[in-house]
Amino acid sequence: MEHTPRRSTGTPQRKNSTVCRHRPPCPPADSPDREAARPVARFPEQGWSLLCNGVLLFEDTGELLPDGRIIAPHRPPAAEHVTAAA
Ligand SMILES: [Zn+2]
Repeated sequence: MEHTPRRSTGTPQRKNSTVCRHRPPCPPADSPDREAARPVARFPEQGWSLLCNGVLLFEDTGELLPDGRIIAPHRPPAAEHVTAAA
């Protein structure tokens, strides 16, 4: 009696873009409104969160887009750290 391991016939689904199930749907990563997407994962100890549209939003407002582009921080950092210029 041979016991054949179960094989899943379905192929694993790997999609490049995250499917948004929010309503209203989150703005896409190439939209200027991309920061309005809902965060789906937060890593506060690392200082970033993953938005629904695949954008990595850093706490200094910098962004890493799903296509690899980097958006520089566009909000001036809070002046709590006054670093003396060396
Ligand atoms: Zn969404």
